[in-house]
Amino acid sequence: MGGVTQGIRLVMLGRQGAGKGTQCVRVSRHYVVPHISTGDMLRAAVKADTEVGRKAKGFMDRGELLPDEVIVEVVDFQLNHSNTTHRGFILDGFPRTVPQAEALSGIVADRGGLDLVIDLEVPIPIVLERLAGRRVCVDCGTNYSVQEPPKNGWVCDHCGGDVVQRADDTEEAIKRRLDLYERETAPLIEWYEKAGLLVSVDGLGTADEVTERVVGAIDERTGRR
Ligand code: ADP
Ligand code: ZN
Repeated sequence: MGGVTQGIRLVMLGRQGAGKGTQCVRVSRHYVVPHISTGDMLRAAVKADTEVGRKAKGFMDRGELLPDEVIVEVVDFQLNHSNTTHRGFILDGFPRTVPQAEALSGIVADRGGLDLVIDLEVPIPIVLERLAGRRVCVDCGTNYSVQEPPKNGWVCDHCGGDVVQRADDTEEAIKRRLDLYERETAPLIEWYEKAGLLVSVDGLGTADEVTERVVGAIDERTGRR
């Protein structure tokens, strides 16, 4: 079977600043499946001032997690009622707790479960450095950095939106999110390992190098190679 005709059901784990967002966009193009980022969806909901957005804003600004039942409902809708995920999906930012992972198992059970879960590994001192310099397009969510800015001022190369520092990329909120990651999300790595789904990928190096590793891991796991 040709690579592009076959979809993929993937969860991407990795702490803040590991490069999850960047890699998910590339992998989503490679396998032609949607990139479902709960952070991007929630930021869009806040901007559009929807009911979910109004619920989410305070949690997000403080660097706290939304209640599981709120985010599970959002993801369940995307996966089962939005008609975009028949070929599969890449989940970025979900699940983040063991109860969310349990809910996801139920949500995807009738389509054969997940193909794999990738843990993108980058050490804490390096993510701290990356997060301090991170900038993002308010309209399309493309990531930039102080080291790799857009071509023309702080205007997005893709959509012309403003490129800014995220409201939750303050030093204090970053610390809180990293602590939360160790406490709530790191246990998921063990949970998925026990489920036989986990593949760890080294997240150091250039974006291209990491993409090659990620695609290699997926193809190996799904018997494409
Ligand atoms: P980061 O990975 O940098 O923490 P995200 O963009 O993934 O940021 O998410 C931003 C915020 O959105 C989180 O800090 C949290 O408040 C909320 N959020 C996103 N995904 C989830 C989730 N699965 N469960 C609970 N809250 C979430
Ligand atoms: Zn943009």
